[in-house]
Amino acid sequence: MNQQRAARGVEGPLVLIVEDEPQVKAFLETSLVASGFRVEHAPNGARALSMAAQYVPDLVLLDLGLPDVDGLEVLRGLRPWCLAPVIVVSARGQERRKVEALDAGADDYIVKPFGVPELLARMRVALRNVARRHAGALETSCTIGPLRIELEARRVFCAGELVHLTPIEFKLLAALVAHSGKIVTHRQLLAEVWGPNASEDSGYLRVYMTHLRRKLDPGRAWPRLFRTEAGVGYGVAAPEEFDERAGEAAQ
Ligand code: CA
Repeated sequence: MNQQRAARGVEGPLVLIVEDEPQVKAFLETSLVASGFRVEHAPNGARALSMAAQYVPDLVLLDLGLPDVDGLEVLRGLRPWCLAPVIVVSARGQERRKVEALDAGADDYIVKPFGVPELLARMRVALRNVARRHAGALETSCTIGPLRIELEARRVFCAGELVHLTPIEFKLLAALVAHSGKIVTHRQLLAEVWGPNASEDSGYLRVYMTHLRRKLDPGRAWPRLFRTEAGVGYGVAAPEEFDERAGEAAQ
């Protein structure tokens, strides 16, 4: 607790931990404070909503299994007015819940049990994405590991070589890059690429993702660029996430 009090004076980002299990809460609190975050804790959904309004956190870690209301209800309650990114914490094997959470506006999710480095990486990505959104920076080009994407020119380079993508492949890549570092659900991708009346058939997506992978990661010579979550969606690594992985691979 002393450690926590000392850290409260530091202007680290404020994280609201919504978690009913005391052991998980204690673990999260210790880990985050040690990493320079400030923390507040809500043990149930009702407190989560009132504390989010009271403290205006920079990020919310939301357990889906709460004693009073479903975590998804808390998310739906927060989303209309709370600008903080929300990372959902779910139990293993609940793909359906992950999809619902992402579709309801969660920025990312993490599955129990998880390691602190993974959690911190997800938090950094979520905070960076929000900072970028607030700055209103419309990025016209982006580099992720070996990939360079020029959005206006609609050109993609992989390891310095220009790669020809079809218009649909480019739209799909652009949609993933716009949310780099997080999983985008099948429904979101179908709507962004094929329009709001797109079919719910994720078979299309699988085909185009296979094309993208083949064209952009031909030799699998570098750490994983694309993320696939079966039954949930797809993602592309965030730039700094990729740097970290490349660093790990080099050690
Ligand atoms: Ca719980």
